[in-house]
Amino acid sequence: MNKRRIYLDNNATTPCDPRVVETMLPYFYQHPGNAASRNHPFGWEAEAAVDYARDQIARLLDVESKEIIFTSGATESDNLALKGVFEMYTSKGNHIITSKTEHKAVLDTCHHLEKMGAEVTYLDVQRDGLIDLEKLEESIKNNTVMVSIMWANNETGVIQPMKKIGEICEKHGILFFSDATQAVGKIPTNPKEMGIHLMAFSAHKMYGPKGVGALYVRRKGPRVKVTAQMDGGGHERGMRSGTLNVPGIVGFGKAAEIALMEMAADAKRLSVLRDRMENSFLEMEEVFINGNIEHRMPHVANISFKHVEGEGLMMTFNQNIALSSGSACTSASLQPSYVLIALGLGDDLAHSSLRFSLGRFTKDEDIDFAIEAVKKGVNHMRELSPIWEMYKEGVDLDKLEWADH
Ligand SMILES: *Cc1c(COP(=O)(O)O)cnc(C)c1O
Repeated sequence: MNKRRIYLDNNATTPCDPRVVETMLPYFYQHPGNAASRNHPFGWEAEAAVDYARDQIARLLDVESKEIIFTSGATESDNLALKGVFEMYTSKGNHIITSKTEHKAVLDTCHHLEKMGAEVTYLDVQRDGLIDLEKLEESIKNNTVMVSIMWANNETGVIQPMKKIGEICEKHGILFFSDATQAVGKIPTNPKEMGIHLMAFSAHKMYGPKGVGALYVRRKGPRVKVTAQMDGGGHERGMRSGTLNVPGIVGFGKAAEIALMEMAADAKRLSVLRDRMENSFLEMEEVFINGNIEHRMPHVANISFKHVEGEGLMMTFNQNIALSSGSACTSASLQPSYVLIALGLGDDLAHSSLRFSLGRFTKDEDIDFAIEAVKKGVNHMRELSPIWEMYKEGVDLDKLEWADH
C-alpha cells in the first residue's frame, strides 16, 4: 500500500523552511552567547544576530526595528497586548471590544480581564464571518480603551476590514490591537497603513520555528506602552523579560526575509490549487463553503459536507491527510467549533466541516490525492447514512422530531 502522508493543516502550524533551519543551526553551538551578555564577543554576536532578525521582521511589516518585541509566540503576544494595555491605560478606561470569532488566546485573556474588572464587548459576526462595522462603532463608549480584532481567522481564513476598523479607532482615539498570526508572512501586513497600534504574530505559522513570536508596539503617533507581564531582567525595552531565544529569533528573521520575497508567488500558486480543490468538492451535492470567499486567505478552505460527520470522514482516509475538523475535542465530547457557530451554522453543518489549509510545501499531486480521497470518503459515508437516504427521498429533515436520548 502506498502510505502517502499529506499535510493540509498549515493553519495549525507550518513546517520550518529548510533555509530557516540552516540559518538557525550555528546559533545552537558555534554562537552560544546570551544576547544580554555585554562583556564578551559571544554576547555581542548573539545580540548582533537578534538585531539582524529584528530588522528582517521590521522590513516585512514596514515598521521600525525597535517596535518589535520578541515573545514565546502569539499566545504570549496576545496576553501581553491585552493585559499590558489594560493595566497601562487604567486611568483612560476599562472597556475592550473584541469579536466572538477571535482565537482562544484573545478570548480567554479577555475572560481573565473581566475577572480583573474589565468590561468586554464580544461582537457578533455576520453569516460570512465579517464583523459589522456599524455595530463596532456603536459599541464604542467613553471608557473604551481598545479594539481587538484579528486580521485573518484561523478556521475560515476570513480577512476582516482592517483599514476601516483602524479608521474607526482613530476617529474615537482608541487603540487598535490585531492578532495577525494567520496573516503575517502570507499577505501584506503593514500595521501603520491599517492604523494598527499593536499586532501579534508567530514564527511557526510562517515557516519559522515553534516557540517564538513577536508583538509590534507602535512607538510614535501615538507612542504606545504596555505593562510587562513577566518581571525580570528588563529585556525588550522593559516590556518582556527573559533570555532571548537566539536560534529561534534568527530563524524567525530568516522566515520573514523569505516571506517578503516569496509570499506573493506562494499566495498566487496556492489560491489556484485551493480553488481547484474547492470547485471539485462543489461538484458534489450539499457542499458549502464557510466564510466570505472574497475576503479570505488564499490558501484556506473551510467546507461543510452536509450529512457527513467531519471526524468520521477523516477516518475514511486513514489519517493519511492531515486536516482539522469543525469539532473540537473537549474532555470526552465533541463540541462544534465556536467560530462556525458564530457564523450561524447549525451544529450539524459545523460538525460536517473540514478545514483545508495549504502551504508553501503543498504540491499539485497532494491536492489531486486529497480531492480523490475526500470525494470518495464523502460518497462512502453518505451511502451508509440513513439520514442521507431520507434526504434523497425528499424528507424535510429540519421538520423531523428526534427521540430524546
Ligand atoms: C496559532 C495562533 C495563535 C497562537 O500562536 P502560538 O504561537 O502557537 O502561541 C494565536 N492566534 C491565532 C490567530 C493563531 O492562529
